[in-house]
Amino acid sequence: MLSPRLSIVQVCHRLAASGFVAAFDGNVSARLDGRTILITAGNRNKGEITVEDIVDVALDGKPRQRGPVPSSELPMHLAIYRSRPDVHAVVHAHPPFATAFAVSGTQLTANVFPEVILSLGDIPLVPYATPSTEDVGKALMPFLDSSHAALLSNHGAVTWASTPDEAYWLMEKLEHTAHIEWLARSLGGVQKLPPDAVDALKRIHPYSST
Ligand SMILES: [Zn+2]
Repeated sequence: MLSPRLSIVQVCHRLAASGFVAAFDGNVSARLDGRTILITAGNRNKGEITVEDIVDVALDGKPRQRGPVPSSELPMHLAIYRSRPDVHAVVHAHPPFATAFAVSGTQLTANVFPEVILSLGDIPLVPYATPSTEDVGKALMPFLDSSHAALLSNHGAVTWASTPDEAYWLMEKLEHTAHIEWLARSLGGVQKLPPDAVDALKRIHPYSST
């Protein structure tokens, strides 16, 4: 198993290879222990990032050593870790189809794919907040407990999970879902599953609380 630092690097490379980020977009973090998180440095291309570009930051936001400046989205990551002690990784990116929904203010249709109901749960469209401010975390707060992923209005997407790998897979699933819904809309729209079918799925969903 990879160390959290190497895991973050691997996820960054996947984000770049998948086209989920451009230029210096995106940021990835992981919880190191009860007091420290690791996060990508700002202004780094995610396809070229190395372990030297991963910064140790205390949960109060102070860098633990001299070195690169943490991503400007650090406040959003910290807000998620403070609010969800069970979360150990956060991925933020701008995947094109998911971000198209986010910038057009279009909610993804709920209760369409069984596997999305089981893996991602509800995918909220979070009201716009200025990137890199504490306001992004505040806007996310109402949705953190009931979801694993969110669209950030006029911005992009964020996922939170137990490991960097899992947070990446959720991001990939989110983008795939948005891509398929885009195509389905061009064919006339999506058909939602009936409520009893959704109830049956949620009964077997390990995160089932909604
Ligand atoms: Zn962003």
